[in-house]
Amino acid sequence: MSKLKCSIVEDLMPLYIEDLLNEETKKDIELHLDECEDCKEVYDELKKGVNLEYEKNMDLKEDEYEELKTDTLNSIKNYLNKIKYILIIFSIAVSVGISILGHGFLSTIPWIIIIPFVLGLLYKENMLIIATALIFNILFNIILQKPDYIIFTSIYILLCTGAGLFLADSIKNLKTN
Ligand SMILES: [Zn+2]
Repeated sequence: MSKLKCSIVEDLMPLYIEDLLNEETKKDIELHLDECEDCKEVYDELKKGVNLEYEKNMDLKEDEYEELKTDTLNSIKNYLNKIKYILIIFSIAVSVGISILGHGFLSTIPWIIIIPFVLGLLYKENMLIIATALIFNILFNIILQKPDYIIFTSIYILLCTGAGLFLADSIKNLKTN
């Protein structure tokens, strides 16, 4: 029979499970557990509890990790969305600017078709693209002090932007069909 009493073994059990005892005490407890059914039962129960607690902690950590992952993905998405709007507004401003300020009818037409076309392929923001084009058209005409041209250039820009977006939509539909 081992030299330890059951009550002492039970007192030491938590330390034994956490592996905080010195080698000699550990061996004594192991010896006792081999021989004593009661203490072995207590040990099994405690050990199960500790493992459950551990698993619960791991689950919690996984939840936190998932949460962190979703948060990160969301902030990346938000960032890309912001870039999207900046990109749309900037490139439409440039293409409207080139179309209105540029010299030579033929050399300027492609910009206000091609840029909406590319933006239309990249994003589903047709209304925003058209609205931005019209707003910049009005702005540029006001800056250039050519208010008489606003209606004419609005129609022209609407047709060109629409043509570019229509082309982009046609290609997108071809891909999905
Ligand atoms: Zn015992």
